[in-house]
Amino acid sequence: MRKLLCFFLLIINISVFGQKLTFSSEILNSTDKDVKEIAAIWKNYFASYASKNDTSITHYWNEEEIKSNFTDIIKYALSPELPIYKTGNHVTFDIRKLDDKFYEIFTEFKLVNDTDKNNIFLIYRICAKKEHGEYKFYNAFYCSKQLLKSFSIGRINYYYPFSYPMDKKSIRDTKKTLATFENIENYYHIKTNSPITYIFANSYDECQAILGIPYTKLRTHFKEAGSSFSRIPCILLSCKPDHLHELIHTLPFNPTAPSLFQEGIATYYGGSGSRDFTENIGLLKKYILENPAINLADFDSNYILLKDGSNPFYTIGAVFIDYAIKIGGAEKVLALFKYPNTNEGIYSAINSELGIEKNNINSFLKESIENYKKEK
Ligand SMILES: [Zn+2]
Repeated sequence: MRKLLCFFLLIINISVFGQKLTFSSEILNSTDKDVKEIAAIWKNYFASYASKNDTSITHYWNEEEIKSNFTDIIKYALSPELPIYKTGNHVTFDIRKLDDKFYEIFTEFKLVNDTDKNNIFLIYRICAKKEHGEYKFYNAFYCSKQLLKSFSIGRINYYYPFSYPMDKKSIRDTKKTLATFENIENYYHIKTNSPITYIFANSYDECQAILGIPYTKLRTHFKEAGSSFSRIPCILLSCKPDHLHELIHTLPFNPTAPSLFQEGIATYYGGSGSRDFTENIGLLKKYILENPAINLADFDSNYILLKDGSNPFYTIGAVFIDYAIKIGGAEKVLALFKYPNTNEGIYSAINSELGIEKNNINSFLKESIENYKKEK
């Protein structure tokens, strides 16, 4: 699956070759025994990812977070699949006291294949606290939580900053969206009891800062930005508390299924950008009129953000979901998620499940979009 940083393009060429951790000269030359101790444990923790011995990782983490499956969420900062500690150049530049219990560790991350070696891709923050004579790591979110407001509805735990303008309408919209979400869960019979940590803030960057990423090169002020940050624990980031598109991404559809269908189903129910599926169809229709030679079956080349904020890839995926529902309901949609996330997998799913041959996909899509009518 693509990194689900929805609604704007994110194409990172991640190389898994080489991962390196170094420390700033200030840390290396520090005479503070706690800083030296934390740096040494941090180095060992980092090295445990290179050894692929993931079971040893929990040894470094605090028990309280382990019990709630919150063992290092920063490792998903790049992608839900590839731990950030397995790639790139990491420079830990500051280890300092946060309060009388916690220390903060700040690390710069650079992509290993970035030609500009000074190009900081993101900065992440991990906390540490001494327990039973040994430092244990904490997610920065653990420390951020006390500075946030929170409430829970069902299995969803919401966190947001005091500065967020939450009003009665926001609460109504949140409840309404959850009711729709529950109907979708029931339709597909894929209800789970796993808790969802839903962080919303005034901007997507603020959500990331709450989580422990105070800086990222991919900064955005786009109010519709959101992401399913991780699956275990299930964390959702958004600029609003009623982000149905992102909630759909938390449903346990096969995570290795084609991203075309993952984005398609999220867009079908939750829209994309600030627009619902029908409005996105209208924008795609306009795009096709302006670019009549476009081949909609070339899915990768349609993963683009248009000036109007829409992404044809998402809408095309939603057209297939719409068609699958019409010809075979929930069962047919779920069948699409049994195929792998490759072009061959997508073509095979469309052929076997929807009965559309590869050569006819472009014309099928263009006709479906041209003739689309919203069902009442
Ligand atoms: Zn999405």
